[in-house]
Amino acid sequence: MTPRPLIAGNWKMNGLLRHLTELEAISGACAGMGEGKDLLICPPATLLSASAGLLFGKAAIGGQDCHAETSGAYTGDVAAEMLADLGATYVIVGHSERRAGHGESDADVRAKAQAAWRAGLTAIICLGESAEDHEAGEKLRVLGAQLAASVPDGMSAKNTVIAYEPIWAIGSGRTPTTEDIANVHDFLRQNLAERFGKEVADGVRLLYGGSVKPDNAAEILAIVNVDGALIGGASLKAADFVAICRAC
Ligand code: PGA
Repeated sequence: MTPRPLIAGNWKMNGLLRHLTELEAISGACAGMGEGKDLLICPPATLLSASAGLLFGKAAIGGQDCHAETSGAYTGDVAAEMLADLGATYVIVGHSERRAGHGESDADVRAKAQAAWRAGLTAIICLGESAEDHEAGEKLRVLGAQLAASVPDGMSAKNTVIAYEPIWAIGSGRTPTTEDIANVHDFLRQNLAERFGKEVADGVRLLYGGSVKPDNAAEILAIVNVDGALIGGASLKAADFVAICRAC
């Protein structure tokens, strides 16, 4: 069965209360658009509560990260259960900006995904090769290793989404060719099938992320084995995000 597409916006460390007007616009435009696809916004944690109210019934909300522990003395961190408490149903884990900026290893990402599952959240586990790996032809080896070590045993089509985000494509305006994206997603699907069985692998959503914009969304979303997109910059403007949702 082809998975139901997911269009996810990652606001990263952007957004003040006054920017909730963008969510109001998204909410208005997304009424009735959720048929046949799932829509998700991951605002900063400070806006989750307000976003939950604004997007209720139109789009899901999710966190951008969670701690691997359920609670405790971890100043400044957010537990998966806290995200769920505010109405989140997803959380991004292992984004390359967390892996690079916070030294998160594959093992850390795996533990965070498990924490997400314990809280009843769907973990969006991010993977991606660097520009150096890409140029050295090491892409699939790197991605295979990240997939093996970041995805916990017990993955299902319901508790996990995989996002392929080449680091060099994030925020750069550059994207891989459609053929390259198709090859990677095919590789990821086969890899998951070997470990979790074909039925689970076929049901898991594989998102592409990295400079998805209104003008390239339709082409990227039409690629076989691309089951949606993870959108950074273009999710901050309601008009752009809505145009990408419409392209799906
Ligand atoms: P971008 O970010 O769409 O701004 O390239 C994607 C991401 O980091 O998820």
